[in-house]
Amino acid sequence: MALPTLATASDLSAHLNAASGSPSTPQPDQISQGLFSSQIATLQAIELSEDGSQLILRTDRAVGQVNSGWQQRVTSHRIELSNTQLAPQVMLPDLTDHPGLVSMRVEQSDPTTVVVRLELVARVQVGTIRQLDSQRLAVPLGGTSTSAATPITSEAIASRIADITLPNVAHLRPRIVIDPGHGGSDPGAVGIGGLREKDVVFPIAQRVATLLEQQGAQVVLTRQDDRTLDLAPRVQTAERNGADMFISLHANAISMSRPDVNGVETYYYSSRDRPVAEAIQRSMLQATGMRDRGAKSARFYVLVNTSMPSALVEMGFVTGAEDAPLLANPEFRELIAYAIARGILDYALANP
Ligand SMILES: [Zn+2]
Repeated sequence: MALPTLATASDLSAHLNAASGSPSTPQPDQISQGLFSSQIATLQAIELSEDGSQLILRTDRAVGQVNSGWQQRVTSHRIELSNTQLAPQVMLPDLTDHPGLVSMRVEQSDPTTVVVRLELVARVQVGTIRQLDSQRLAVPLGGTSTSAATPITSEAIASRIADITLPNVAHLRPRIVIDPGHGGSDPGAVGIGGLREKDVVFPIAQRVATLLEQQGAQVVLTRQDDRTLDLAPRVQTAERNGADMFISLHANAISMSRPDVNGVETYYYSSRDRPVAEAIQRSMLQATGMRDRGAKSARFYVLVNTSMPSALVEMGFVTGAEDAPLLANPEFRELIAYAIARGILDYALANP
């Protein structure tokens, strides 16, 4: 949704009628409590519905107008309640395990206006806000239900790939070493349905290499087939080839009892490595809509021991209920390959 939605009190009562199936006759008491009451509503609590699919804003009476819209950053949503004040202590829900909500802040922006700010993960939509009754507003959070996740279609994946522009770096001819993690007797992480990390990252690494070469880069893979390879030879391949960049590709895992943990994270070691990690992370999020677990620093062997800018991509969780079907899907893997290649090329272009 690109445009802010504006709901007046009468819109809200119409929504209420539609929702309850009653005739669409306006309910005068609700309208008067809304637009025309001089009494200010007090926001007392914000709760999450049991399935996490909506927020409930509890007030002591109907609020005035509700304005709701996205901020410049598409993951930031602002809900403004007019003729409303904050209770001395507003109860807020625990968001720790919520799949879509990152944070929530409430503030009194002027004496009669309360603002609720939501930070959401990239693929979550905020639906039309409805007044359930004079004391409850419902804020639907689309795309947060873990049970009803709809698989992405081939058409949607194809259109996302078509949206990706890969910059040409033929004038720079950067030397890039791509390192598909694990291999051979080391499957890496094993997740839902027996999905193995080495089987996810290898075809993606091959596609990343091809895409980079098509845009004018010189690419070396640390392994050309499904073989066991130590960490030291991976670093040696980068050093021996005088690489300008070393990118290691992995898929993540956590306990099989945590299918709720999903998302992309990219690691760097030093401040020199950070820009390439951030470029890849940014491109991955923008292209795939997967959850953002950030670009972070860590002392991985292949990052500490390489002398050129390097990054290690964890392209989602093989144990994640959302990520595993994506990582197992060859069409989505093609999208991931495009996203990683774009991040690498963006960085190469900006750091000749
Ligand atoms: Zn790994």
